[in-house]
Amino acid sequence: MSDTGKLAMELAEARVEQERDASVARARASLPSGGGYPFCSCGNPIPEARRLALPGVTSCIECAKARESRGRR
Ligand SMILES: [Zn+2]
Repeated sequence: MSDTGKLAMELAEARVEQERDASVARARASLPSGGGYPFCSCGNPIPEARRLALPGVTSCIECAKARESRGRR
């Protein structure tokens, strides 16, 4: 692959990340405070049942699992 093609791909990836961050920020801004966030920082939605069970939870199940398995070593 040429350097130009690689750069274009990196720019496209950065843009996707920016858009994802923006949509997460919008979702967070539109929420009443203290109700937990509907989206994890990774961009995955957090199921409502999880938010109700763990008030203020900010990570999706996958991220929570990943953090758990990292911490367990
Ligand atoms: Zn996540």
